[in-house]
Amino acid sequence: MRERAVSGHPDSTGRTPGATLPSMTESEGSTKESARAAHPPPCDASARCDDTAASLGDYRAAFHTAGLPMAVLNRDGLVLAANPAFGELVGTAPGDLVAADAADLADLGADPRLWAAYREVLCGRRERLSCTRRLKRTDGSAVWAEVTVEPVAERLPGGAERVLLTAADISDRRDLLARLRHLQMHDPVTRLPNRTLFFERLTAALEAAAFERSGTGRIGLCYLDLDGFKAVNDTLGHRVGDRLLGAVAQRLTRCAERAAGRGPGPGGHLVARLGGDEFALLVEDSTGTDQLAELAQSVLDALQQPFDLAGQRLSVSASIGVVERAAGGTTATGLMQAADTTLYWAKEDGKARWTLFDPERNAHRMTRQALSSTLRPAVDRGEFTLEYQPLVGLGDGRAQGVEALVRWRHPQFGVLAPNRFIALAEENGAIVELGRWVLTRACYQARAWQLAHPGGQPLFVSVNVAVRQVWDSDLVADVAGILAETGLPPRLLQLELTESAVMGSAGRPLQALQALSDMGVRIAIDDFGTGYSNLAYLSRLPVSVLKLDGSFVHGFRSQEHPNPADEMIVEALVALAHRLGLTVTAECVESAEQAERLRRIGCDTGQGWLYSRPVAPDGVAALLDAGRACG
Ligand code: C2E
Ligand code: MG
Ligand code: MG
Repeated sequence: MRERAVSGHPDSTGRTPGATLPSMTESEGSTKESARAAHPPPCDASARCDDTAASLGDYRAAFHTAGLPMAVLNRDGLVLAANPAFGELVGTAPGDLVAADAADLADLGADPRLWAAYREVLCGRRERLSCTRRLKRTDGSAVWAEVTVEPVAERLPGGAERVLLTAADISDRRDLLARLRHLQMHDPVTRLPNRTLFFERLTAALEAAAFERSGTGRIGLCYLDLDGFKAVNDTLGHRVGDRLLGAVAQRLTRCAERAAGRGPGPGGHLVARLGGDEFALLVEDSTGTDQLAELAQSVLDALQQPFDLAGQRLSVSASIGVVERAAGGTTATGLMQAADTTLYWAKEDGKARWTLFDPERNAHRMTRQALSSTLRPAVDRGEFTLEYQPLVGLGDGRAQGVEALVRWRHPQFGVLAPNRFIALAEENGAIVELGRWVLTRACYQARAWQLAHPGGQPLFVSVNVAVRQVWDSDLVADVAGILAETGLPPRLLQLELTESAVMGSAGRPLQALQALSDMGVRIAIDDFGTGYSNLAYLSRLPVSVLKLDGSFVHGFRSQEHPNPADEMIVEALVALAHRLGLTVTAECVESAEQAERLRRIGCDTGQGWLYSRPVAPDGVAALLDAGRACG
């Protein structure tokens, strides 16, 4: 292997160094053959280079004139000779370097693995060591060098005892690479670190926090988005937009410097532009949410001053998501997701503010998402059930009908009440399928009760219908189909719609209500009193029942603390409704006293815990067997 160092290849000067010393020609033997076989000779056979011509003096001269910094070391790593290029590299006369420890000169002792490898080269157990080191010059400056250490060929007199150290100055290359990296890692508009550098620093900070015991072991982040920045770009152009971003970046940097208690320069809190009008301030070794909240507030304050940009006076505000947590167990993506969610909350809560990450709110959001995405398949998997709550005649205390109330037997979250998922189902449209299922199930059930108790007035079933069912599906066709399929007479079906669903309804919803009413299906207005409460308008719609919202009955309170206003309103409403030909059901009747007052006022039916909680179909069957007396 050592022949490689002195083989007949042209060196960097283009010359072919003497392949061997005269005294060593014999010993070349077969290795020379194999080297030749591998690499064609530089000179043709007839004009073979005359190795023997080169003397030791030639080599010495070459060593001294070479532009490559070199030093010959002994096996203890002490410098025996250094060439002028080496002296120049470290800033010392070459003669002064004699007897110096090369490990110190080339910084080979700091890294244990490097040190071990170097020692192995010195004692001949390793052929070569090559590494990049930062060498200190005598004037205090530093240079980057590609350092190589390898034994001098045994063919030189005493070569076996010598080691050659070369140190090629690569400072220019390093500078160029550093400049390229700076360009790659910074945003040209604001000169701030960009997304890539931000993530690099964040990942490094999380790793450092996990392994180092010296810091707080925490990390904090302000994730900021300018409010209405798009409008600036759209109305004033991208140049003004860019200048604004630059000015914002400066203010953010000043806030970060002030918060970190230091002047401009590296270190402190990292400010980065993540793209568009999004910025981040990273606080390593944070001390708690207070520190981050203070920083976020200072940023809002700093941005409050208008910006003067080329004659334009601009005011902007920002929304900031603030996250502060223990670094252990936190990933860069996890932290950014939390920050992103929190920023969204800040926007949702009205912009121009900072909002702190709230694990509970996040869990709620996650649950909402999980529920929303699994609603549709849950209908197919049969995860929904219906409970029924009696609607009781206030005069005789007997059940006249039941309201069907849906529940979700969620495999993970247990039984969920409709207020957890109906709004989600309305949002994503799953309500159409779910509503169809509820209607079918409820009609089958009502028909089954009717068949099981022939004779006497059968129970009607009241089914809640969401607005979107009226708009997004053919409710009339669905109802007609389901009634035909189940055999339930239309008069035993009541549909509950909210005021907002029917108010102002023209066109399709109104036609649908009319068609349903013509079919013999009763329409009830649910939660009456929470919306427009426009009785005059309602009377013109094909509505036959008002269900008074529970808040009215709650307002009755006890005999000691009556709320006469609520009672008077209900009394007036009932009288008016009756005059308009509507019947009235009171929701949330919880006490006998409330029931009695409602009866005296003239309310027709009541629904509430006084009579029964919503129950499974068996509970209703038992009620029917017992002659339907409730309460
Ligand atoms: P709603 O139609 O007004 O139903 C009455 C709600 O009041 C039911 O809540 C019932 O359990 C509750 N309640 C009954 N009696 C009392 C009482 O004495 N005191 C109190 N505090 N509450 C009482 P639930 O079952 O949680 O249903 C909530 C809402 O979900 C319903 O209000 C309805 O708007 C909606 N909903 C239920 N099932 C369906 C459905 O199948 N489709 C649609 N679109 N909405 C449904
Ligand atoms: Mg209802
Ligand atoms: Mg209601």
